[in-house]
Amino acid sequence: MSNFAVNLLNNLTPPAVCVLCGADSQHEALCQPCLTSLPWLPALHCPRCALPTLDGGLCGNCMNEQPHFDSTHAAFLYHGVLAQLIPAAKFGARWSLLPALAKLMQPGLAQFARPDLLIPLPLHAQRLKERGFNQALEIARPLARNLRLQLETNLLQRTRDTEHQARLSEKARLRNMRKAFVASGDLSGQHIALVDDVMTTGASLDAAARALKQAGAARVDCWVLARTP
Ligand SMILES: [Zn+2]
Ligand SMILES: [Zn+2]
Repeated sequence: MSNFAVNLLNNLTPPAVCVLCGADSQHEALCQPCLTSLPWLPALHCPRCALPTLDGGLCGNCMNEQPHFDSTHAAFLYHGVLAQLIPAAKFGARWSLLPALAKLMQPGLAQFARPDLLIPLPLHAQRLKERGFNQALEIARPLARNLRLQLETNLLQRTRDTEHQARLSEKARLRNMRKAFVASGDLSGQHIALVDDVMTTGASLDAAARALKQAGAARVDCWVLARTP
């Protein structure tokens, strides 16, 4: 079977068995025991960037330098089995895992104020061409549908490719990142939720939030599957 056909089947057929252990999962991606064993984000975490903290207060990074986004909701910590599942979804053509994982974000999102717009963090055109899809969009799409939120994919553009900038000095990297995103249109007073798969340092989400606020956004929240601890 061609790769294309395999991908199509992957996306059309709900898995009959748990992707982790192979047990009967009632046509969900994961069985109940595997769901319970996922590295769910601890209740005590920084309200701004979701980094686990001892008392649930702001983390040191956010205290030192306030990010441009206002809060972060992450369903999981990025380690253990999540650090296998997300790359498998992203690079191994198991796209169907992304909406399945996105569904697990929904209960936690109920406690957050509803945004006016849902914006997936855009990939640079070159990355999109290489990968064939934007993982952030594959997460944002089902969230928008299930939570009845407006999905916007044209307001925010990634104008610089910042994924492969290892050769640059840290200073140059930061400068590059700061100019990586451009928001178009008037976003005055808008409350926006930025969607991505993983928040690592938060630098790209911060740069995107900065661009959205420059265009007038009143509030930017990050909605990510997982936070790197
Ligand atoms: Zn299982
Ligand atoms: Zn923080």
